[in-house]
Amino acid sequence: MEKVVIIGSGCAGWTAALYTARANLQPRVFTGIQPGGLLTTTSIVENFPGFSDGVDGYELMMRMQKQSERFGAKASFGTVEKVDFSKRPFALTVDGEKVEAETVIIATGASHRHLGVPGEDLLETKGVTYCATCDGALPVFRNQPLVVVGGGDSACEEALYLTRFGSEIFLIHRRDSLRASKIMSDRALSNPKIKPVWDSAVTEVLDVKQDKVTGVKLKNLKTGAESVLNCAGVFIAIGHSPNTDIFKGQIEMDANGFIIPRHGMMTNVAGVFVAGDCADHVYRQAITAAGAGCAAAIDAERFLAAQNH
Ligand code: NAP
Repeated sequence: MEKVVIIGSGCAGWTAALYTARANLQPRVFTGIQPGGLLTTTSIVENFPGFSDGVDGYELMMRMQKQSERFGAKASFGTVEKVDFSKRPFALTVDGEKVEAETVIIATGASHRHLGVPGEDLLETKGVTYCATCDGALPVFRNQPLVVVGGGDSACEEALYLTRFGSEIFLIHRRDSLRASKIMSDRALSNPKIKPVWDSAVTEVLDVKQDKVTGVKLKNLKTGAESVLNCAGVFIAIGHSPNTDIFKGQIEMDANGFIIPRHGMMTNVAGVFVAGDCADHVYRQAITAAGAGCAAAIDAERFLAAQNH
């Protein structure tokens, strides 16, 4: 029986692990299929306090894991497939194995949102990608025109990163102004290689018949005009959806699947806590996820203390 199980190994998960480990609760962290979470797919993180020159996203997550393990956190590579929160101890199924837990901290984060247009899924890994830092350096993208879809910080970051490899980067956004922070917008829009394409939606990724990306079909949302833009890669950066499907019907969430904390970081189920992007559609920063992980850990520790642990 585990005193604390943490589901997810991003900023929220590892910070919750650090605090519960230091409270001598030997938390068990199930990493999921992407240990370290989404931050491991980013390049340099410039806004995590304490790193004046920035820090590589992967390195930051490895450091968090190491720091938690130093105080007794146990990392298990595994994906939680099923939970039963109807009674305590809670029952979890992890890659077929049954695990029991006194408390659970949900820190499952969020995944890349898909456009849902023809060609997108069939051409994934054949030119369609959701991560410039993972795939941008592939030979197929070198000195080729590339498309980035989205208008947020992620889209700007992806476009800027891709300027190292592509011949020109078309930033396709459905409105005529970016949602991204001012510093990221300014950096992207002042880069001569980045060409914004405003008020436009990708309606199809071409060309499934050739089994590789050759371009995108575009629709101008103001004029209705349709066109084709040739490119070798489509980098989609249109936000994230919370990874909360396995909790549906047991944990209270909003219409978009974000978990709603009720008392501090506790959910509607006493003993189940939540932290990070799976419960946050507002801030979604590495540092806010880490802060929430800390708060969830303190709440879990107090909950256990009140139960005479
Ligand atoms: P985001 O801020 O939610 O932006 C998503 C963008 O995609 C928006 O411009 C949105 O358009 C567009 N979009 C959404 N659905 C679409 C669809 N179906 N078709 C076309 N476009 C669509 O997401 P994000 O950029 O991933 O950022 C997430 C959070 O992480 C933010 O809080 C951000 O500040 C943070 N972040 C920070 C940094 C950094 O500081 N360096 C880097 C990356 C992320 P609309 O604008 O019209 O809604």
